[in-house]
Amino acid sequence: MSDFKNLTIGILALQGDYECHKNQLDLLGAKSSYVRLPKHLANIDALIIPGGESTTISKLIDRFGLREPLVDFGESKPIWGTCAGMILLSNEIEANQANVKPLQLLDIDIARTAFGRQVFSFETELILNLNGKEVKSEASFIRAPRIKRISKGVNILATYENEAVLVEKDNIMASSFHTELENDTTLLKFFLENYLVDILNK
Ligand code: GLN
Repeated sequence: MSDFKNLTIGILALQGDYECHKNQLDLLGAKSSYVRLPKHLANIDALIIPGGESTTISKLIDRFGLREPLVDFGESKPIWGTCAGMILLSNEIEANQANVKPLQLLDIDIARTAFGRQVFSFETELILNLNGKEVKSEASFIRAPRIKRISKGVNILATYENEAVLVEKDNIMASSFHTELENDTTLLKFFLENYLVDILNK
């Protein structure tokens, strides 16, 4: 069992279900802090971008001067985006009438809300391929984005009905689903153990 107490995980807390991520980090004994301004990025080891409304989060990123600081952070530090968070990490958004401006930290293209609207939201159990092992995790798809293009070199860690729903490259991980709504911390634990390995081994 890893000891997470040396970690501080930032959670982008502009809009969305950031409190759910905090609850899960509390469950694992990792410290967390909310990121609302550029200065809040200074003392964190990794960042979670939560689910919510990517249009609103994108606007607030600009309003609070966070765009460049977030891109700089993501050039070397671990970031995990869930749902709207995945949209914000992507390269390009299909039919982007709402003009969401992605951070372009992960070379995938996205279609928003493409698993159906609120009434078609669903929960399922996914098999994640984590470090070569198959691991089960609960997953909630809520107006979830679909990945329309994946660049070479981006790894697929889980699929749902043959579509990639969990991907990663280097220090960036993105899931079209939420795992933070329940107490299943499987994927959060993987994120911490896999991407923050240097800090955990100190
Ligand atoms: N469809 C939402 C968006 O485009 C994302 C939904 C979610 O984060 N659960 O922002």
